[in-house]
Amino acid sequence: MKRFKIKNLLKSPVVGSEVLVKGWVRTKRGNKNIVFIALNDGSTINNIQVVVDAAAFDENLLKDITTGACVAVKGKLVESQGQGQHVEINASEIELYGKSDAETYPLQKKGHSMEFLRENAHLRFRTNTFGAVFRIRHAMAFAIHKYFNDKGFYYLHTPIITGSDCEGAGEMFHVTTLDLKKIPMNETGSVDFRTDFYGKETHLTVSGQLEGELGALSLGEIYTFGPTFRAENSNTPRHLSEFWMIEPEMAFYELEDNMDLAEEFVKYLIKYALENCMEDLEFLNNMIDKGLLERLNFVLNNSFVRMTYTEAVKILTTADRKWEYAVGWGRDLQAEHERYLVEEHFKRPVILTDYPRDIKAFYMKQNADGKTVRAMDVLFPGIGEIIGGSQREEDYDKLLSRIKEMKMPEKDLWWYIDTRRFGSAPHSGFGLGFERLILFVTGMSNIRDVIPFPRTPKNAEF
Ligand code: ATP
Ligand code: MN
Repeated sequence: MKRFKIKNLLKSPVVGSEVLVKGWVRTKRGNKNIVFIALNDGSTINNIQVVVDAAAFDENLLKDITTGACVAVKGKLVESQGQGQHVEINASEIELYGKSDAETYPLQKKGHSMEFLRENAHLRFRTNTFGAVFRIRHAMAFAIHKYFNDKGFYYLHTPIITGSDCEGAGEMFHVTTLDLKKIPMNETGSVDFRTDFYGKETHLTVSGQLEGELGALSLGEIYTFGPTFRAENSNTPRHLSEFWMIEPEMAFYELEDNMDLAEEFVKYLIKYALENCMEDLEFLNNMIDKGLLERLNFVLNNSFVRMTYTEAVKILTTADRKWEYAVGWGRDLQAEHERYLVEEHFKRPVILTDYPRDIKAFYMKQNADGKTVRAMDVLFPGIGEIIGGSQREEDYDKLLSRIKEMKMPEKDLWWYIDTRRFGSAPHSGFGLGFERLILFVTGMSNIRDVIPFPRTPKNAEF
């Protein structure tokens, strides 16, 4: 007999038919005559109620059906007599796949703290909240590929192990096969990487952008969607040391086109979630964040404010506010500043452009003023920066002088610089942090709760 997924069974129930379902017991209640089991198989936030006539089953079997146990149930689908569901299954056969020790199963009672569930990340998918979060995470990943595929962008797989530091921020994890107890040194007292696996110093990538640009300057429009790694010691609710990033890179796009794409893209994703994940969103709206649905609709239906960094600094310096971090032209904006602009001043998403060149990466296109670059950061309510991007410097001389000024390792970047020698073109791109997007779409407040197994300083469990 074919197994039904509970989602499909509930969507179009054929009352009176014989069905087979398999899943994990969420709750069991009842008395010595009749037992009610709420069964969930992960396909939907909803459980199916299984009604068991206790007299018809082995007493020991029923005893073993406790919260967390895995069972297969055959029976007739009938209209429910009780409240809360339209249909239920009158069990005729139950097979116990896996018992769950009632004493030690961590998810017994309702209302565990997020910290507790993080420590039990191997089981937290079985809660309503995390089931919803990870179904939505899947839907967003799918929608990202669909969006770009429909627009004719190519999915480009950029390397995870690299020999260059894209951002120049020095927040990289080393990749090595050297024996850490016997590190070979050269005459100058630094590590001799010649005997290392790649014969040179290598790291985990912090961004696929530089390689993405190579793709865009041949294939036209590409995007990457992969893991990135940053050894930044920032213990915040918005930073992970391993996170996923989506990085579109487009030939012939200027900064305005880049902003248009970013805005259209995130709105598409929000719309996709509203159209495809409503049951999970409604649950999160009720249980996690009462303003979630309203905020999603608001962002979808309003255009993003676009203004320069310089104008934003003016707003911030005249704001009636005590800042933890000082504001001033030339300083990077902190989350408190970004969130003030979005949540209090404009009350809608904001795209800031034309940042001071000294706080941005070497590859951004320089403006004629000699002070700013064609950068753009997209700022979201509750999150702060969700996207960082720019128009790239396509001019060979300007790029090279910036690389020299910033003391970037010119010889490691020869392949990148080459693209400005052979058919350079205006081009732009941005990076969307996947987990920051999921934070926004689910209303969760800690980035550790929107990735299955978070990696943060001093934490690499599971
Ligand atoms: P922040 O100032 O918040 O640290 P950033 O300026 O370092 O961000 P970028 O280098 O522009 O970020 O990376 C592009 C996007 O990747 C960011 O807009 C954000 O969505 C995401 N991102 C960056 N760092 C992290 C991180 N440590 N964990 C999760 N997402 C991140
Ligand atoms: Mn950062």
